[in-house]
Amino acid sequence: MSFSKLNLSKPILRAIEEQGYSNPTPVQAKAIPIILSRQDVLAGAQTGTGKTAGFTLPLLELLSEHAQSKGRSPIRALILTPTRELATQVHESVKTYGKYLPYKSTVIFGGVGINPQIANFRRGVDIVVATPGRLLDHIGRKTVDLSKVEFLILDEADRMLDMGFINDIKKILALLQKKRQNLLFSATFSDDIKKLADNLLNAPILIEVARRNTASELVEQLVHPVDKARKRELLSRLIKKGGWKQVLVFTRTKHGANKLSGQLEKDGISSAAIHGNKSQGARTKALANFKSGSVRVLVATDIAARGIDIDQLPHVVNFELPNISEDYVHRIGRTGRAGSEGVAISLVCVDELLYLKDIEKLIKRKIPQERVEGFEPDPTIRPEPVKKKSNSRNRNRPKPSREDSKPSSRSSRNRRRA
Ligand code: AMP
Repeated sequence: MSFSKLNLSKPILRAIEEQGYSNPTPVQAKAIPIILSRQDVLAGAQTGTGKTAGFTLPLLELLSEHAQSKGRSPIRALILTPTRELATQVHESVKTYGKYLPYKSTVIFGGVGINPQIANFRRGVDIVVATPGRLLDHIGRKTVDLSKVEFLILDEADRMLDMGFINDIKKILALLQKKRQNLLFSATFSDDIKKLADNLLNAPILIEVARRNTASELVEQLVHPVDKARKRELLSRLIKKGGWKQVLVFTRTKHGANKLSGQLEKDGISSAAIHGNKSQGARTKALANFKSGSVRVLVATDIAARGIDIDQLPHVVNFELPNISEDYVHRIGRTGRAGSEGVAISLVCVDELLYLKDIEKLIKRKIPQERVEGFEPDPTIRPEPVKKKSNSRNRNRPKPSREDSKPSSRSSRNRRRA
């Protein structure tokens, strides 16, 4: 199937062509006609499937079909995302695909000055991409009017709920007019997502591209059993020996990310850490350096890495397995993107075997294990107790933020975080 069959207008097709996309990805082929027919959508699609274009392209098309008369534009489309990084990326996509259309868009997130955002709103924008926390700040200040929103998109809704944004989302939804089209994208479907979808969506069409909670088929997954104390050494070896040029490494904590990044630097491997304690500027810079290839390794925590769009990322390493199994699926979704193959390697010590079991249960497959010569685990090392946890994201879940605190508590720190 080609894009030309999807009833998109010339300015949009031209922008797509400039991106070099020859065919729609499966989620695009399914979602675009449904969205164009003005129906609500509940889509199960991970990052890397092309989901952003899947909703942005038809959104732009619908906006142009029902163009507003001249004058200051009311906000017609609202896209909510869990993180600043994802908001930035989605906004980039809106700009890219809408390049030949007259729409104004803006991106709204915390951690940066609010005044330029207020000025943008004053000038009038058609499309807003925002994280919930800062958008609520604007609502509180009455600097934004959402009463004319015709299209609401929740991107990575599961992660928004994980980050504790549910109350913020509800407050935002309460301000929107009833007559609108709603699209909900989520990589996983917990009971809470289903509940949100039931309340939000009107007779939605369900689109699923990857099977529920299954890891992308294009990603080759591998476990290297190794002692905890030797993980860093093994990682350096794998990177150097494999000649890996671009590696995204996950740690569980911010401190762990900083420490590992410093150690890799000492090993002569250029590296940067990205996590919630870093300023927006530092995060953007680290990501840009990683994308351009001047930094070889990006060490990230789950929340910071969420939604980062890096094309054809060849290597993802779980330096530590996540204690929430779904995060594994999200992590490895960084690689094998939109048709290119990737490898996801997990360095697993004896303490993490229960996490591994949970992950394998979730993805419904055994991950092949390969011992690396010289790094075989010492069989005399006993596991340290692994804290009991739940596989369901929202039941018995520890504080939603493994690294950041709960945004719905509305503390000023959390607002900044959003
Ligand atoms: P997403 O899942 O939206 O994060 O998109 C993942 C990546 O796929 C992005 O880098 C897009 O630029 C790319 N992409 C989106 N649509 C297509 C397409 N039809 N063909 C090739 N690449 C695409």
